[in-house]
Amino acid sequence: MWEEPVISGDKGSGTIFFSGCALKCVYCQNYEISHGAKGLFIDGGELSFLMLYLQDLGAHNINLVTPSHYAGHIAEVLAKIKGSLLKIPVVYNTSGYEKISALKLLEGLVDIYLPDFKYADNALGQKYSKVPDYTDIAVAAIAEMRRQQPVDIIDNGIMQKGVIVRHLALPSHKEDSKKVLDILSRLDSTLCVSLMCQYFPTPGVSAFPELQKRIRKSDYNDLLEYFQNVGLSRGFSQCPSSATEDYVPDFDLAELSKILSKKSALPIY
Ligand code: SF4
Repeated sequence: MWEEPVISGDKGSGTIFFSGCALKCVYCQNYEISHGAKGLFIDGGELSFLMLYLQDLGAHNINLVTPSHYAGHIAEVLAKIKGSLLKIPVVYNTSGYEKISALKLLEGLVDIYLPDFKYADNALGQKYSKVPDYTDIAVAAIAEMRRQQPVDIIDNGIMQKGVIVRHLALPSHKEDSKKVLDILSRLDSTLCVSLMCQYFPTPGVSAFPELQKRIRKSDYNDLLEYFQNVGLSRGFSQCPSSATEDYVPDFDLAELSKILSKKSALPIY
């Protein structure tokens, strides 16, 4: 329920989290599945089943979280069920560190791209996410996502197609956040940008004193003002009270196993 309102709506977004992540952000709030390997092994049939199960529950969309390293498998599954069995939009919820070749596999299968754009400076990507070229890769990836989904379509308050770029403002890095907004506005000033302030320090930032605090409310307000001044006009802001671990999902593998066990009772899947 805690995604942007056009994604969550009132019935919720059907999130499927994939274990592991191409980045290793020191501040990751989903550390146990992104840095570790918490999860269950499932095959393509089970992934189809989970998508259709979430659709049957009434989810507004299927929200694939940290899916990048499974792009080929996901494309195969979606090619079989999208449109015929799976009718709701598919959201690709990613770090933004995507190969163009992987995104091309998803063309026509993903309706909504929900990438992060974390840093305007490759050096910060190296420092905090352990990759040397985050900014270059993410800018090219977002441009490709926009090429595939050039128009944002929102129907009855729920997004059906389009792109929303997320930027998590980090403490001590207001100037980099401004450059992020500059880059996005130059890329496409009609882009919908979600400017997030939900950062809170996790144990992973113990070696980074500048990250051991929450973002100041005055800094966040400055960024919201900058957002408008730079020419962006569409997007979302967050309430500072969201900077708490209360909004980190509880990953319950026993519950997931129970859901998967229903698959054999539903041969249609
Ligand atoms: S990209 Fe997101 S999920 Fe991956 S390590 Fe960074 S914060 Fe965590």
